[in-house]
Amino acid sequence: MGDIVLMNIHTGLETPAAAAPLVDPFGRAISYIRVSVTDRCDFRCVYCMSEDMNFLPKGDLLTLEELDRLCTAFVTRGTKQIRITGGEPLVRRGIMTLFRSLSRHLDSGALEEVTVTTNGSQLARYARELADCGVKRINVSLDTLNADKFRDITRWGDFAKVMEGIDEAQKAGLSIKINAVALKGVNDLEAPDMIRWAHGRGMDMTFIEVMPLGEIESARVDQYLPLTQLRASLLDQFTLEDSSYKTGGPARYVTVKETGGRLGFITPLTHNFCEGCNRVRITCTGTLYMCLGQEDAADLRAPLRASESNDALMTAMEEAIARKPKGHDFVIDRTTSMPAVGRHMSVTGG
Ligand code: SAM
Ligand code: SF4
Repeated sequence: MGDIVLMNIHTGLETPAAAAPLVDPFGRAISYIRVSVTDRCDFRCVYCMSEDMNFLPKGDLLTLEELDRLCTAFVTRGTKQIRITGGEPLVRRGIMTLFRSLSRHLDSGALEEVTVTTNGSQLARYARELADCGVKRINVSLDTLNADKFRDITRWGDFAKVMEGIDEAQKAGLSIKINAVALKGVNDLEAPDMIRWAHGRGMDMTFIEVMPLGEIESARVDQYLPLTQLRASLLDQFTLEDSSYKTGGPARYVTVKETGGRLGFITPLTHNFCEGCNRVRITCTGTLYMCLGQEDAADLRAPLRASESNDALMTAMEEAIARKPKGHDFVIDRTTSMPAVGRHMSVTGG
């Protein structure tokens, strides 16, 4: 009897046999990759990008087939979760081809989850197809429920379109987590209303501390709101009960007793979570960043393109993971004006 190979009926592609998992020098197994499929975006969020951004020439990008090959190489080496991000992933032309082809690894059981982080602008169009490709959970980034403020934060975003996207995603059966970057003096007072709104619609809600990534027009220190402070202010209105819920990501969760919903905090500055880090990030040009907050990187595009065999690619992946640093060193204060790393979040992928 030959080996049983599970083939995806949509693509005709298979999941190759598993090889040894990738484990870093601190014993952390790499089971989660975040893949930025484009550095472009139809928004210009003030904390993420400057208004005038220089984007990569399209020719530098990995093709969708190359992205699939790279993701597949990681799946054979122990990746269980893939998050597709960007820039705005859903503005990349033909992106559903990638979701469709990755779904074979969900069908075969090699991969547990494909998720996506999106600004929601294209969700109304793609929600059903995402669900059809086996996506079950998505993150929608939304920092305010006020349409005017939304326009100020995103510069170019259309609030009504994002709301329509959320409606369609829920109709398609996708579980949604709303991610909001906590911005001092911008959305801090709105946090309780956002929590009630998200939980009222059956969605999880997570707040994120702003990180010093890339040059932007404003000073980070003017945007930065420590989540220790936000959390303390929420106690005036809510009872927060510790929860053991985990998604594989860095958020720590509580249950809000009054709403029954889940609330997450991503605190790269006030509570470093690097000791449990199971993830690496890949950019749309095939650069592997072993840590969001460090400059060291490995080029996977050259070995990928050098040969049809994956031998050189696997060696490059192993060498890179052997250099994964212990953690990041983010600092935001009045004396530190430089970003921790020069690249924007939209390059590395959030
Ligand atoms: N465009 C998609 C979106 O906005 O969801 C995906 C990419 S975006 C870079 C991913 C996440 O990173 C978003 O939730 C965004 O709010 C967050 N983000 C961007 N720049 C950030 C920064 N400097 N600090 C903290 N979070 C940031
Ligand atoms: Fe675009 Fe997302 Fe960055 Fe906003 S946070 S500019 S939506 S990539």
